[in-house]
Amino acid sequence: MADEWSTPPLGDMPVAEFRAHAHTLADWAAGYFDQIETHAVLSKVTPGDIRAALPSQAPELPEPFANLLADLDRLVIPGATHWNHPGFFAYFAITGSAPAVLMDLVSSTLNQQAMLWRTSPVATELEEVTLRWLAQLMHLPSDIEGVIYDTASISTLHALAAAREVAVPDVRTLGLAGRNLPQLRIYCSEHAHSSVDKAVIALGMGHHSLRRIPADTHFSMRTDLLAAAVAQDRAAGHLPVAVVASVGTTSSTSVDDVSAVADICERERMWLHVDAAYAGVMAMVPEFEWMRAGFDRADSLVVNPHKWLFVPFDLSVLFTRRMDVIRQAFSLTPEYLKTSEANTVKNLMDTGIQLGRRFRSLKLWAVLRYFGAEGIRDRLREHVRLAQLFASWVDTDPDWERVAPVPFSVVCFRLHPRDHQGSDADLDALNQRVLEAVNRSGDVFLSHTALDGHIVLRLAVGNIRTEERHIRRAWDLLTEAGQAQA
Ligand code: PLP
Repeated sequence: MADEWSTPPLGDMPVAEFRAHAHTLADWAAGYFDQIETHAVLSKVTPGDIRAALPSQAPELPEPFANLLADLDRLVIPGATHWNHPGFFAYFAITGSAPAVLMDLVSSTLNQQAMLWRTSPVATELEEVTLRWLAQLMHLPSDIEGVIYDTASISTLHALAAAREVAVPDVRTLGLAGRNLPQLRIYCSEHAHSSVDKAVIALGMGHHSLRRIPADTHFSMRTDLLAAAVAQDRAAGHLPVAVVASVGTTSSTSVDDVSAVADICERERMWLHVDAAYAGVMAMVPEFEWMRAGFDRADSLVVNPHKWLFVPFDLSVLFTRRMDVIRQAFSLTPEYLKTSEANTVKNLMDTGIQLGRRFRSLKLWAVLRYFGAEGIRDRLREHVRLAQLFASWVDTDPDWERVAPVPFSVVCFRLHPRDHQGSDADLDALNQRVLEAVNRSGDVFLSHTALDGHIVLRLAVGNIRTEERHIRRAWDLLTEAGQAQA
């Protein structure tokens, strides 16, 4: 598609052209939010469709920007799974909220690379300030420091790297291989997220150094079995290094007893990392004070504003009372990165593996200011209310059963017709068919998990645009599909 602009032989797009396209794109983005419910939540493309619709080689000659804009509607929208749709109930529902989306444009426009304070004083200090605000809102201890990474997987990797640094102080220089070291041990519940496994693998501890501790009937880690496992490992000459306690597990959002885990960690001199990637933001809400028990004793805690704090992907926060250990593990300054102010400022490159980092705090800043703490709390409370309402529909229908408590905004449930005569496997297959039928509707998207060996459906509320009518629609679709498939 041609337009009135032509690409200059050298240099960037002319400012006048940029301005025109930026206006078009602002309208496009506003239209997207406005019309979001006209799109199928789960993309209807089949594997390879997108690839087939694109040229196999990059264009040799310049193309009008209008071609790109046209492809947004032709290719990108149909090929996208619409995480911003209010009927998105799969995994953990998230939101790219409008104020944060706007600030993402600023982030790219300024193109800050905040490796050193001097390469972006504002990205360095705004990150510090917004994370201090967030820590205060979550009632975290005042000596806690935060750093932004892309994902919880990377936050947890850094936490466990710090734990390894404490347990094996010369690991940075000597590594782990070929040494006469005891077997290192990391502990987490059987329901902890797979990012813990990946961190242990990446840190060279070996997957078998991770012990997954069985959970109780509420899917919380059995701390008596944790204590026994640690004692058993000590007796076998192994080295217990860290425990990852989960507050809001991925499958059922169950909560480990962080205080009891902290007792064990203190006694055994182990690092305590809390994975509150999804649920951590609820610590802002006074009624949820109970979930903060033990947070003040954690060495580190991860919370993902890109999960349930309306910040567009990606933005994960690692809070730690021991940032000095993370610096000890990773700080390294080649000549070309030395600066005269190094002793008086924080250089973000010292707080982890990556050198460069983009200006992510802008979008968190936007959310905290635009909605305000009160507005955020109200929205979180509403999500919990919607989940409880949905759970009450499940509870009162004799053909459906709820299979886990609902501490936050996720409901785990399944179809179990009262006259069901078949095997457990039949029931699993029935629930899979129901899920597929409901997701085919395009109005909602739910995902599944396994609990106690059974296939379970999950409804996760977390999108800022979700209203009661959307969960009502999900329930209607589920009950219709349940009747059709049973
Ligand atoms: N921890 C928990 C409890 C999660 O549910 C998830 C993802 O859903 C993660 C960690 C990993 O998150 P990320 O995608 O940010 O790495």
